[in-house]
Amino acid sequence: MAGYRVPHPEKPHIQRHARKQTLTARVVGFVLMWSIIGVVALTANRAIPREHLPWKTLALVDPIGAATKIKAARTGEDPAACREVLQQGGVEFLEVAPRASGFCDIHDAVRMEAGMAPLSPRDAPMTCKQALAVSIWERQVVQQAAFDAFGQAVVGIDHYGSYACRRMYGQDDAPVSEHASANALDVAAFRLADGTVVSVQKDWTDAGQKGQFLHAVRDGACKVFLTTLSPDYNDAHHDHFHLDMGGLTKCA
Ligand SMILES: [Zn+2]
Repeated sequence: MAGYRVPHPEKPHIQRHARKQTLTARVVGFVLMWSIIGVVALTANRAIPREHLPWKTLALVDPIGAATKIKAARTGEDPAACREVLQQGGVEFLEVAPRASGFCDIHDAVRMEAGMAPLSPRDAPMTCKQALAVSIWERQVVQQAAFDAFGQAVVGIDHYGSYACRRMYGQDDAPVSEHASANALDVAAFRLADGTVVSVQKDWTDAGQKGQFLHAVRDGACKVFLTTLSPDYNDAHHDHFHLDMGGLTKCA
């Protein structure tokens, strides 16, 4: 009986057909995958707040988000972009003349004049990157925490200095401090509108609102500054928060 002959799978025209089908399936799969990725990315770009998206520009009005720290560090590296964000956020500042001496070096620095709770002492030169981080932290962390804890604003921030030509902990063999390039700020206390002073030294261990406020302010700083050191870190920081935008990421 003459029966149907099953084509041999190894015949060349069958192999070509199979290869063509496989290639078509791969191309369709590839296009489909990238279409889905594109739609998801576009939807996320519109739906997710910009403080969580590292590719969107930084603004001082943005709440703290997942991308705040990386955007502050990146924007701060660009002198023009850094100043633009400060200006658009209503922060007034003066330019600080560059100076260098030994391992100490101030460049791309500003001195904040208005647009945030005044620093005391007023003369606190900071790299634009550090000034930007301080501005974000003051507006989105410190003021928010003060309203949450005390129902009032912070009207002054006392500090122990931003620029100091020294090595870490003042030791001769230690690495150069971020203070030596005005890339840091040592915050000692916060002054509230009603005159109340909340001090890191006195109130860090307070079980009440002052202690809660200071811990909220430290935790928020960790989301903005590359390095945040509090009394939890060591005895050298028992009376201040060290905040800096240097290379090391540390939160303690
Ligand atoms: Zn310090």
